[in-house]
Order: sequence, then structure tokens, then C-alpha cells
Amino acid sequence: MSGPIVCSAKYLPLEQRVSAADKAIHLNPANRPQAEMLAQVFPSFTPTRERIAALTTKFWHSGKVALTVSFLDIEDQTLRARILQHMNAWDASANVSFTESLKGGQVRIATASGSGYWSYIGTDIFSVPADQPTMNLESFSMDIPESEYHRVVRHETGHTMGFVHEHMRQALVDLIDPEKAYQFFLETQGWNKLMVDQQVLTPIEESSMMGTSTPDEDSIMCYQIPGTITKNGEPILGGLDIDPTDYAFAAKLYPK
Ligand SMILES: [Zn+2]
Repeated sequence: MSGPIVCSAKYLPLEQRVSAADKAIHLNPANRPQAEMLAQVFPSFTPTRERIAALTTKFWHSGKVALTVSFLDIEDQTLRARILQHMNAWDASANVSFTESLKGGQVRIATASGSGYWSYIGTDIFSVPADQPTMNLESFSMDIPESEYHRVVRHETGHTMGFVHEHMRQALVDLIDPEKAYQFFLETQGWNKLMVDQQVLTPIEESSMMGTSTPDEDSIMCYQIPGTITKNGEPILGGLDIDPTDYAFAAKLYPK
């Protein structure tokens, strides 16, 4: 592997997605996809439970979101504190808190090498087996530059708060090799071509269905794309820190 590591948001195995969607709607009824959205996506046929599950968001209930965090393979207390500090950067605008729990945390962080950077999305973390991580920060140590804590820890924490990737602008989509993207997302996410078209290859200008009403191209939640699927071999790093639009969106979802 060469160059900076980019995130691939983690999705539950297919057979768990319907029950995880039910869980998300139970925890926050606003996660249920709206009828207008379903009509837009499935104009000519009845949506199945699987299709509804795919459109269900995974936000926590509004109000205080207080999650406990355990570190599965980090002994260094200084490193634990540094990661927690960046997770809690979201607290500047939103009513969220991440506090360490020596074991059995709701958020479970590992640093497995070869696994990359990822987190499950929002309430999906409750469907991950208790002995498994919900977030991986490959090889994170005190030697990692501060900028990577901003770019990676805050981004993965955004996923844990229920945020998915923002769509990219046209100029960035143009850098992606579609065939390589279909292969990559099939292997890493189990996505079919239609899903990759919708989630990755549709630029901001054409995408108004999901997420915020005005997509933010500097968002910390912008897609991060590995060099293996770009035409020029360079990765797309996306946003480098929580920006004002991210803070405003987080504050609206989880008001203080
Ligand atoms: Zn991500």
C-alpha cells in the first residue's frame, strides 16, 4: 500500500441490514425513509424491506448522545486521551460526548494493520458483536501527525454519529475510473453497480436526495477515494477537518 490511507465506511453484512434498520427506527423514528423519497427511488414497484433498510438513516436520537468508548488494543493512556479529545471535537457545536470505559464500550476502537480506516454508521454499532471493533484506526500512534488526527479520527467519529459520505463534486468524480470503482466497492462494501453509481459516481450537482440540502464539498465527511481506483493513481483525501457546515449540521441533529 502506498500513500495516505483513506476511509471506507463499514456496512453490516446483508443479512443483518433489515434488523439493524428496525433498530435505527426504534432508536430514532426520524430514521425511517420518507414516503417522497421511496416514491422517487421506487416509482414503479413496491419497496421491499431490504430496499427500505438500504434507505434508512442511522442517526442517534436527538438530544444528548453520550457514548462510551473502549480501546481494544491500545495500552498507552496518552494515546487513548488524544484520540478521545479529537472524537470530542464535535462537542464544540453538538450535544455529543465520548467517554472512556475500560471495557465493554459502545464504541470499540482497534488499530489493526492492513484493515485501514473505517467505522460503522451510527446506530449500526449496536449490531456489531461485542468482542469486535466498531472503528479501526490502522496503526495509529503518538507518532502520527496531528493533521491525521483531524482528518481521520474526526471523520470516523462522524460515521459513528451517523454521518455518511458527502457526494463529490464533478471534477473529483471525473478522476475516478468507473470500472475499478465498481470492482472496489463490490469487494469492500458488497455494492452493485447501481449503488456505486448513486453513492460514488453521482456528483453533488445531481444529488439532492440524501443528506444535507446543500452538499458541502469541504466537509470532513467528503468521500475519501483510494489511489487504486483513480485514473491518475492519486488518492482523493476529502475534507481535512470539521468545517462550519459540518458543525452546523451536527448541531441541528444533536442540539445542545
Ligand atoms: Zn468515511
